[in-house]
Amino acid sequence: KRKNPGELEFHQAVQEVLESLEPVIEKHPEYKKAKILERIVEPERAITFRVAWMDDKGEVQVNRGYRVQFNSAIGPYKGGLRFHPSVNFGVLKFLAFEQIFKNSLTTLPIGGGKGGSDFDPKGKSDAEIMRFCQSFMTELSKYIGPDTDVPAGDIGVGAREIGYLFGQYKRLKNEYTGVLTGKGLKWGGSLIRPEATGYGCVYFAQEMLATRYETFEGKICVVSGSGNVAQYTVEKLNELGAKVVTLSDSNGYIYDPEGIGPEKLEFVKELKNVRRGRISEYAEKYGVGYFEGQKPWNVKCDCAFPSATQNELGSEDAQALVNNGCMLVSEGANMPTVPEGVDIFLNAKILYGPGKAANAGGVATSALEMSQNSMRLSWTREEVDEKLKQIMKSIHKSAYEASKEYGHPGNYVLGANIAGFKKVADAMIEQGLI
Ligand code: NDP
Repeated sequence: KRKNPGELEFHQAVQEVLESLEPVIEKHPEYKKAKILERIVEPERAITFRVAWMDDKGEVQVNRGYRVQFNSAIGPYKGGLRFHPSVNFGVLKFLAFEQIFKNSLTTLPIGGGKGGSDFDPKGKSDAEIMRFCQSFMTELSKYIGPDTDVPAGDIGVGAREIGYLFGQYKRLKNEYTGVLTGKGLKWGGSLIRPEATGYGCVYFAQEMLATRYETFEGKICVVSGSGNVAQYTVEKLNELGAKVVTLSDSNGYIYDPEGIGPEKLEFVKELKNVRRGRISEYAEKYGVGYFEGQKPWNVKCDCAFPSATQNELGSEDAQALVNNGCMLVSEGANMPTVPEGVDIFLNAKILYGPGKAANAGGVATSALEMSQNSMRLSWTREEVDEKLKQIMKSIHKSAYEASKEYGHPGNYVLGANIAGFKKVADAMIEQGLI
């Protein structure tokens, strides 16, 4: 904390990981000797840069760009770009740090990184978004590459932004490579990548449910957010016979007791991805409740899927979910639950899948996109979906087995941190003092 003042989210993420690792460090003195913990909390490289661009009125705007290249022990840095006014070093360091363990859990050869800008895409025209992306990539291109660092999307960075970023990279480098993932299908993207985080989060939840001989059939689910992760979480839950009754955005949430079925979900996709409108429009269109400024955690449910942003689920929210009989929480977002909330879930012994395990399907499928790009071929939808399913199963298995080995079966926080850490720590030792 002394070294990184004010980086609250980073402190929060590091504290959780280091606490879970205590028994591992005790069992493995070689990690202590090699000062792995001291090394693993220090990014290998972190860059900030000026992003100057011109708005539609001809006025100059200035934002700050970042890339945190945290750990490359097991592969090139990999992690999304976030465009949101709340972005700062602390937020990106937390995300990049989490990404190290998440990427390791996927079993694929990818290191941890994250980047973005405090740029706010809301209310900007397509032309403004393009000019911003081009300026951002002009600097970022100096530090990334298909074998060095392969960014992807995150909050505020979807298909449109990846397109503009890729176009500018190609123009600057004169090469057509898989330097970004989440690309359009016609130009190197992978089938299932848009769906992967949401689908994967539900696959992970299915595995957790199976440990209690349960399925999604007839389960009432609450989902927060209404962006990429939330949309495909709803899609998969619908397929599996669950009923999703909420969605939200930064202004409030909607409650639809009839369920957000496939047709209503199509409306949400068009509303959010094409018109870039507010979720309150859903309430107007379908005549259901809209709760301005509130989050959906007081709604009675069997399962909850926080899919918006960090620390969106407070300790009172966690208590409300438990009191209302919620039996499963699977995190589509990164670190959406505050630490006290996590303790409430763990003490109540509900099935709790932390983001670093539950939402790893997105980055795993990004790594599959990288493989396809390198081989210059494309797998079918079924092939990618099957690989995603198997990866989520194996993440669940390794997190569950680690939780058992260390005496807390079913504690996926502990299990995911330990299973993700070991491979990276061993690689760091084997590669010498770097
Ligand atoms: P999107 O930008 O597509 O959607 C984000 C959603 O969350 C929007 O509904 C947005 O509302 C809401 N939101 C964002 N910030 C806030 C905030 N400060 N308070 C309340 N609501 C907020 O992003 P994604 O769906 O891609 O990402 C959602 C989460 O999932 C993030 O935590 C991300 O890191 C994580 N994640 C994403 C992956 C991916 O593949 N996309 C992979 C793994 C994790 P509004 O429309 O009002 O902005």
